[in-house]
Amino acid sequence: GHPVYRDMPTTIFEKMSARARETGAINLGQGFPEGPGPREILEAAADALLTRSSQYAPMAGLAELRAAVAAHYAHFQGLDLTPSEVIVTSGATEALAASLLALVRPGDEVLVLAPLYDAYLPLIERAGGVARIVRLTPPDWRITRRALEAAITGRTRFLLMNNPVNPTGVVLRGEELALLAELCVAHGLIAICDEVWEQVTFDGIDHQPLIGLPGMRDRTVKIGSAGKIFSVTGWKVGWMCAAPPIATLLARAHQFLTFATPPGLQWAVADGLARPDAWFAAQRDAYQASRDRLARGLEAAGYAVHPGGGTWFLTIDLPASGIAMDDVTFCDRIVGEAGVAAIPISAFYPADPITHLVRLCFSKSDATLDQAVARLAGFR
Ligand code: PMP
Ligand code: GLN
Repeated sequence: GHPVYRDMPTTIFEKMSARARETGAINLGQGFPEGPGPREILEAAADALLTRSSQYAPMAGLAELRAAVAAHYAHFQGLDLTPSEVIVTSGATEALAASLLALVRPGDEVLVLAPLYDAYLPLIERAGGVARIVRLTPPDWRITRRALEAAITGRTRFLLMNNPVNPTGVVLRGEELALLAELCVAHGLIAICDEVWEQVTFDGIDHQPLIGLPGMRDRTVKIGSAGKIFSVTGWKVGWMCAAPPIATLLARAHQFLTFATPPGLQWAVADGLARPDAWFAAQRDAYQASRDRLARGLEAAGYAVHPGGGTWFLTIDLPASGIAMDDVTFCDRIVGEAGVAAIPISAFYPADPITHLVRLCFSKSDATLDQAVARLAGFR
């Protein structure tokens, strides 16, 4: 077998979800909303399945969805993408794989920031690249010029970044984004931006896409996911946006990964992306209320909580909560003893991990969150 896969463990998300299924624990580990999803989005899919073709969609995606993605980004993020610059993929995971396989050449270095989403390193390695990891630390997870410059060498060709950040909930803006853009331009890097959480921001914060910063328009791949925007993670409809010379290469990689994505779901996503501002605001407000409910409940139960400005995740700080266990031990114990599954932050570090923080997913009903809090209160 290929060395990337030989000694690879099963991803932490599947591992913890399997434990939750076996034990009947409340699953606040893997990030997914409770329930079937927003009715109007599901109805659009049902309608498309019943009335439209279920044969192969065009390889780069339905023209209507490509246009809807471009229009959505023009409206919400002030971008000037054309539909031909949008390639539809089967989830952001495929977009990440297609981008890295299409662009990275053997020996190219890819700058990444840890904590990092667990798909990144195996994909970089499989593409023949070498990850250069900048390790960020709590409480502020600050990105500094010094750390970035120390990691960039003459062979660095890419920045692979995530914003808003899974697992910390940090939303990068202003100066930090400007610094990343400045270094990409100065060092001739292509940025691959995993922005799947772009619509999940709170407290009035708006997402700022790196592709919109000076010098970035033609050197950025912007990746999105309908799973997050519409609370339907199982649909696996995503996309990658880039200027034509890059988009052409991305499409070539995509055509031999999945070739195309289910057309009925593409229709529903195209329809959803055109919903009025108030629809998206209502989604954000509901998730913000869930974040606040879980944070308040855990705090009342004696936990030290770090709620973020985006994503479906918050973190709890074990030592600050008076708990003398590392994150892996805590997660192992609460799934069996309290009946709550969670994700240890150390899973997002390939080396030298942060081990005192635990990620909890709050995209659940009030009743589920309250029950999880009661169980975690009893565990302390
Ligand atoms: N990137 C990040 C940062 C994610 O959190 C996720 C899923 N939670 C993905 C990529 C994968 O997205 P998809 O399910 O659309 O493949
Ligand atoms: N991205 C999801 C999370 O962070 C998990 C997706 C997966 O299981 N691969 O929870």
